[in-house]
Amino acid sequence: MELDLTQAFQKELTCFICLSYLIDPVTISCGHSFCRACLHLSWEDIQPPVQCPMCGEQYRKELRTNIVLKKLVSIVRQASLMKDLSSEEHKCVTHRETKRIFCAENRIFLCQLCSNSLEHRGHRHGPIEATAKDQMERILKQMTSLWEKIQENQENMEAENRMKTLWMDYLTLREEMIRTEYRKLQPLLCEEEEKHIESMRNEGQCVLEKLGTSEAMMMQKSKELREMYQELMAMSQEPYVVLLQGLDDIFRRSESMQLSMIHTMKPKLQALPITGLTESYKHLQVPIFFDNVTMLHYKMNLFYAMRILSFRPRHKDTSADYAGFHFASRGSQSFISGKYYWEIDLQDSWDWAVGVCKDSWLRNRNQPIESEDAFLLVCVKESNHYSLITTCPVFQHYIEKPLGRVGVFLDCEDGSLSFVNVAKSSLIYRYPPGTFNFPLFWVIFFHRNMK
Ligand SMILES: [Zn+2]
Ligand SMILES: [Zn+2]
Ligand SMILES: [Zn+2]
Ligand SMILES: [Zn+2]
Repeated sequence: MELDLTQAFQKELTCFICLSYLIDPVTISCGHSFCRACLHLSWEDIQPPVQCPMCGEQYRKELRTNIVLKKLVSIVRQASLMKDLSSEEHKCVTHRETKRIFCAENRIFLCQLCSNSLEHRGHRHGPIEATAKDQMERILKQMTSLWEKIQENQENMEAENRMKTLWMDYLTLREEMIRTEYRKLQPLLCEEEEKHIESMRNEGQCVLEKLGTSEAMMMQKSKELREMYQELMAMSQEPYVVLLQGLDDIFRRSESMQLSMIHTMKPKLQALPITGLTESYKHLQVPIFFDNVTMLHYKMNLFYAMRILSFRPRHKDTSADYAGFHFASRGSQSFISGKYYWEIDLQDSWDWAVGVCKDSWLRNRNQPIESEDAFLLVCVKESNHYSLITTCPVFQHYIEKPLGRVGVFLDCEDGSLSFVNVAKSSLIYRYPPGTFNFPLFWVIFFHRNMK
């Protein structure tokens, strides 16, 4: 009778996909249940919506363990393990007793009397069923962390692919911008311009090749991670007797594979000098004094928004990192017409933003960062990486960060604004003429000091 019952359960607790016991069973919206890993693996190359392998109904990818099913599987597997061990051939030869104890040191099953013997003094012994269950949980934990890495790798691969397009677009934009800048200089530096462009193209090509290599490595990694996941899956389906024989080797391999993930590239172009660039603005230089203005503090979410955009576009972390001192300042004067140039030293700032804004932007508390009223160059830093972004529209720049002073050139006449890396005499970005025609500009400056 007991045997029949176990067999009946066994049938009901079998996964339709792998035809083994349901491992970490999940029940999807139609009511059908499968191993979590079986569904995970069935998603390869399938874009949502995903369909139930049994009835074809669509389901969402958020899976939750069916705890009751999981317990039932565990009970049945434990029962079949104990049934095996209670057979005559597995009984302790010396004491003729059923083995119920597991010795972790020697990885053997023992009867109670053997377990108490001198030979096993100081060993870690425990009930076989409980130890088997623990081993199973260890595998599931390992599979969870491996699956997360598989997802991460997939996201990195997509990011690297997107980066190739962004990079090419950036090179095109930059080339156009640099050529325009050279045209404005007197005397014209044709030879330098060609060298500048050529050097930039070479650097750009080199980065593209590296991005391609990185993507290929991630593809290979994806294959390896999946194979490892399948291996763990196969291991989890083995009878408990096998699980108890040890998982150290498979865990060691799985863990080392997770440690050697391939990170996405954060390519940056060198800031190449344009002879006479800074000097061409010097005669328009005006002194700007900044007062720390408390009313601007609510604009500090600027850094948070830019950081999410630059470093965590997929996982929107809500824990804002606001350590350090913030300063938000408005310049002592506003500009209506004419051409002005000023420099700001940013050497000690962790995050910073410089630029001009409309009066209304300063007054409005709820204005989104993407609003049309503030033209800023923003730099946000996260660990060893930084990101340079301009607003209106939000655009990321893949260029070396200025160390020290940033020059800002405002041309109210043609409605353009330039940001200059002063030390390198290099152009960071220039908003094209006609970008704005506001009645009034306030110069603004935000920064967050090093911790
Ligand atoms: Zn399955
Ligand atoms: Zn179904
Ligand atoms: Zn014994
Ligand atoms: Zn022992």
